[in-house]
Amino acid sequence: MTSRSRRQSEGTAETVAIGTGRRSAYLVVLVILPVLALALAVPAAWGWGIGLRDLVIAVVMYLVSIFGIAIGYHRLFTHRAFKGNRALRICLMLAGGMAVEGPVTLWAAEHRRHHKYADREGDPHSPWRYGDSGLALLRGMLHAHIGWFYTARRRSSRKHWVPDLLADPDVRRFDAAYPAVVALSFGLPAVVGGLWSMSWTGAWSALLWGGLVRYAVVHHVTWSVNSIAHTFGDRPFRTRDRSSNVWWVAMLTLGEGWHNWHHVEPTCARHGVLRGQLDPSARLIRWFERAGWAHDVRWPSPGRLSAHHTGPVP
Ligand SMILES: [Zn+2]
Ligand SMILES: [Zn+2]
Repeated sequence: MTSRSRRQSEGTAETVAIGTGRRSAYLVVLVILPVLALALAVPAAWGWGIGLRDLVIAVVMYLVSIFGIAIGYHRLFTHRAFKGNRALRICLMLAGGMAVEGPVTLWAAEHRRHHKYADREGDPHSPWRYGDSGLALLRGMLHAHIGWFYTARRRSSRKHWVPDLLADPDVRRFDAAYPAVVALSFGLPAVVGGLWSMSWTGAWSALLWGGLVRYAVVHHVTWSVNSIAHTFGDRPFRTRDRSSNVWWVAMLTLGEGWHNWHHVEPTCARHGVLRGQLDPSARLIRWFERAGWAHDVRWPSPGRLSAHHTGPVP
């Protein structure tokens, strides 16, 4: 086998072609529907405002979705930053599913490829893809944020990137039940809103705020890590990529915006490792550990921090 054909076959193993139908489905679910939901929210907020009931339901659903992505999909299933008992793993998978960002195997496969090639050829979503100049960077940020969902002609092969997850019967069951999980993500707020108010209007408005608007906001907050936390912000640690720390992205993502250290040590359970870097997801993992639900948690070691820090660790 020549080196070129070997490279090609390796490329084939890492990614698989996606048909136009699937790309269009990604376009609808990941790009168009969230924009429509946000557009719908403007006249609704203008006309009737958002009541306390809907606000509570939306905030709880937001926290469940974001923690599910940060702790479940990302730190546990993609990076194995800790081990959890079966109940915790299933709960975290379900919570991550509430974010409507795809089955956990697909999410993890794309994300493991992102880490291998971060900001280089092969990264599915680098904002630096088109170059460093103003317009090229703007185009790259749009690509990293949502553009790649539709423009990518190939996606990461699950067989190649996540064989460990495919071997887990609970994960396989979750993937098979994913459409039902999505239905739950919208049905749950509607049912809670309906029962809480004992009215259909209450169900509909909870569906709007706790379902549609929350899912749109959760998406854009998550994608900001790919677009903004690879473009702006400070980089106190030496990495081969442009991963960075953006405090407001970190707050919205409950810790994920401390993205620079995460690219130094992806398996670390804590992303906000420096003084003042609040990481609610790491805090929750610590509570799970204390409760005995999580074990073998990979906490940062001071030696590793100072080895990679560009100056003395403050
Ligand atoms: Zn990254
Ligand atoms: Zn990661």
